[in-house]
Amino acid sequence: MPSLECLPSREAKGYQRKRKMINPLLMQPAHRVLPLLRAGEISSVELVRAALDWIAEADPDLGAFLYVAEARAMARAISIDKARHQGEEVGPLAGLPVALKDNMCQRDTPTTCGSRILEGFRSPYDATVVRKLEEAGAVILGKCNMDEFAMGSSTENSAFQQTRNPWDLERVPGGSSGGSAAAVTAGEVYLSLGSDTGGSIRQPASFCGLPGMKPTYGRVSRYGLVAFASSLDQIGAFARNIPDLALAMQTISGHDSLDSTSLPEAVPDYLGALQREPGALRVGVAKDQLALEGLSPSVRQIFEEAIAKLAGLGFLLEEVTLPHASYGLPTYYLIAPAECSANLARFDGIRYGLREEGRDLFDQYCRTRRQGFGAEVRRRIMVGTYALSAGYREAFYLKAQKVRTLIRQDFTEAFKRVDLIALPTTPTVAFRFGERTEDPLSMYMADLFTIPISLAGLPALSLPIDWIPPEEGEGPPMPVGMQLVGPAMAETRVLQAAYCYEKSSGLHDLIPSFVNDRKGLRFDPQQCSQIWGQI
Ligand code: GLN
Repeated sequence: MPSLECLPSREAKGYQRKRKMINPLLMQPAHRVLPLLRAGEISSVELVRAALDWIAEADPDLGAFLYVAEARAMARAISIDKARHQGEEVGPLAGLPVALKDNMCQRDTPTTCGSRILEGFRSPYDATVVRKLEEAGAVILGKCNMDEFAMGSSTENSAFQQTRNPWDLERVPGGSSGGSAAAVTAGEVYLSLGSDTGGSIRQPASFCGLPGMKPTYGRVSRYGLVAFASSLDQIGAFARNIPDLALAMQTISGHDSLDSTSLPEAVPDYLGALQREPGALRVGVAKDQLALEGLSPSVRQIFEEAIAKLAGLGFLLEEVTLPHASYGLPTYYLIAPAECSANLARFDGIRYGLREEGRDLFDQYCRTRRQGFGAEVRRRIMVGTYALSAGYREAFYLKAQKVRTLIRQDFTEAFKRVDLIALPTTPTVAFRFGERTEDPLSMYMADLFTIPISLAGLPALSLPIDWIPPEEGEGPPMPVGMQLVGPAMAETRVLQAAYCYEKSSGLHDLIPSFVNDRKGLRFDPQQCSQIWGQI
């Protein structure tokens, strides 16, 4: 393995512009700057200003943000500093810059879902996750780019801009939450929220070398998340390390009477649990999944090395089978489009955003939707409508529901024997722009290993396990991720195991040279004596 303190990253052609130096504080994990904020060693105004300046500097090359709420963020930072100064309770994330995927509603703020059809729309209310972040004191800097309505695996389906992967600006950051992943990787914010329907947090987390987590279906409220496929959508988070991820997940999780699918269970202390060793957990390795066509040999090799490391850490490896998981992709690509065709019916040119006038009401609907939706969204609406139509519903949609049940049962069976299942997150590392846009099936393949877990509604996170040189062509090493999957509601266990691995790997301290090509940005823990216990 190369020395990884600051890996080279490649600038895309035309993007060799010299950027100003980043404020080193911005590259630290949240759990190292929160104690500094708390102790008054830095103010929220300073930190938010630094983050906004860095966004102004870096984002023209990166394209992570669709909207930056500068004035609002500064006003909030001022009020948090003031409240802290007056001794008020300010919350565990007080003063911390964070970002949202642009499919989450924030009052009086644009929400586009990466689509022209929502251009000009401003949300009249806050999503529950936004309320929770703000109650915890976080400062939301803006909204991040995404594939249109979260349909895609590269963020290339955004109607507005490309987002580049900070490790190699000629490659995609993954998707659909690509903007949220790139923003954390590049030091623009400490934490960001994404949504995951079939892999849209775990896959970009893997492509960007970050930990990213999708919780159990129902663990986080979907109130205020623009729906894509309601039986699969879940909100989760990206962070720079597992303790930060635990903190983010803890902040946004919990029952919400505004979401009827929200689970009533109390949220455990995820962060506190990280201070306990998880014990000798049994980790299932699904050999049948590793044999699937499409898994790159080098990703498979790195994954197998990571599994061996888990064994070295005291985890007990056990072989499991997931015999129906290989039907995950076709199952998902019937269920998700079916649900999307119903959910997206509301964008009719009457109630939200874009309106194209027509001869009559029907003509207006048609013109608005033809004009407002991109090609992938239109394809999904058509596939979904077809799969639900009379005569085909039994053959396609209901059949897919039966296979979904079988996939879920595979996991139930496996979890009778093991505590966790480990899988690669993605079959390959991040690909280059344009490589898969002409062939939807090759794009869908990026979610080969994440989709079955979504269909089963289980908690899973992706964490970086290594950086590897590109298999073909030139370029810097790219990150590879591993998925740890737990039974329903076992987020604590998933996080504990991931933390065990992270502590032994040390990979979470890496930064791409997009951020700074000078060495020495690693934070000196001696300078900050209070890491734990204060968050
Ligand atoms: N890439 C998958 C899709 O296009 C998953 C997207 C997601 O999780 N939102 O549907």
